Amino acid sequence: MIYADNAATTRMSDAAYEKMTSLMKDTYGNASSLYSFGQRSKEILEDAREDIANIINADRKEILFTSGGSEADNQAIRSAAVIGKRKGKMHIVSSAFEHHAVLHTLRALKKEGFEVTLVDVHEDGLIRPSEVEEAIRDDTCLVTIMYANNEIGTIQPIEEIGAICKKKDVLFHTDAVQAIGHIPVDVIKDNVDMLSASGHKFNGPKGVGFLYARKGVPLTSLIEGGAQEKGRRAGTENVPAIAAMALALQESVDKMEEANKTIVAKRNRIIEGFSEIEHSAINGDATKRLPGNVNFCFEGIEGESLLLLLDDKGIMASSGSACTSGSLDPSHVLLAIGRVHDVAHGSLRISIDETISDEDVEEIIKSVKEVVEYLRGFSPIWRDLVNGRKEFIL
Ligand SMILES: *Cc1c(COP(=O)(O)O)cnc(C)c1O
Repeated sequence: MIYADNAATTRMSDAAYEKMTSLMKDTYGNASSLYSFGQRSKEILEDAREDIANIINADRKEILFTSGGSEADNQAIRSAAVIGKRKGKMHIVSSAFEHHAVLHTLRALKKEGFEVTLVDVHEDGLIRPSEVEEAIRDDTCLVTIMYANNEIGTIQPIEEIGAICKKKDVLFHTDAVQAIGHIPVDVIKDNVDMLSASGHKFNGPKGVGFLYARKGVPLTSLIEGGAQEKGRRAGTENVPAIAAMALALQESVDKMEEANKTIVAKRNRIIEGFSEIEHSAINGDATKRLPGNVNFCFEGIEGESLLLLLDDKGIMASSGSACTSGSLDPSHVLLAIGRVHDVAHGSLRISIDETISDEDVEEIIKSVKEVVEYLRGFSPIWRDLVNGRKEFIL
């Protein structure tokens, strides 16, 4: 069994698992209770907040715990919209290859009268800061651009985009779910006002995440109820999960430099191996990408069949994002970088961590080569390409 889908979710680290389960059993007091057993939970909660803040160069008051990346994205964008509407600024700038947690929130806001401009994502999977600058208008209340893309792994020029937003006095939010714990993130250096993160993408638990909001950026609560999180998110805090998330993030950051050397070498070997398959191409810039991400298109095949046959061989990978699999539409990310439908359908994402062995890397390359050849053997599209009835694109 080879797990190569770490962009979808990661295994909890042993230490995070231990932390979470022991707190669930032994330290189950409500963080809002006044007796010392409850206050112990409160201390653990606040320690986690402090630790996370330190890691991203924020203040503890600027960290809000959520149920994950999707909620953090929703709350960041909704909050900016509330601020904007009050000032008569109802225009938002984003990009076409954002996560659906961002795109669908923007779609909902459009129905409420907001205007949205999506800047182009170029063929290399990167956004041009100058084009973000051109898209900003007098009535723009928010720019939201992801830190690193979840499908093709490309890392955006966040610091530059942030500097432009600062200069233009527009709020800047980044969905950093794929970046946090994998590459260095510093909210001051990166000039961000709001940032979303999710525990399960860096070896923490699922169902927990956080939103960073710079001091002075008022957040609107999505969930009404008690006064938890200073009234910005009601509901009893999931202290065991929050503490486990903070620990997992600390571990990820501590090992990052060493781990990334290993991961990048293995990733590059996979890219090299896949490049030997004719009529294939990498999606997104080969170097400005997350250490563990490989994303390829193989002409003449269906990504879903590729996945199922790889699964038979014990290899777990992805085609498009988990949220879109099951639908027949090709990935919106691949379409955004200019892949045509036929080519976009034949995509494969491999996302690895440092625990993958060299043997597993070779097994992935060998299996993908075999399966692509096998599928092309009875693909009508491939036959048309080979017979010259259709032209090769890749
Ligand atoms: C996984 C992911 C999300 C959603 O996070 P959840 O914690 O699963 O809600 C949002 N944005 C990106 C880029 C992601 O990869």
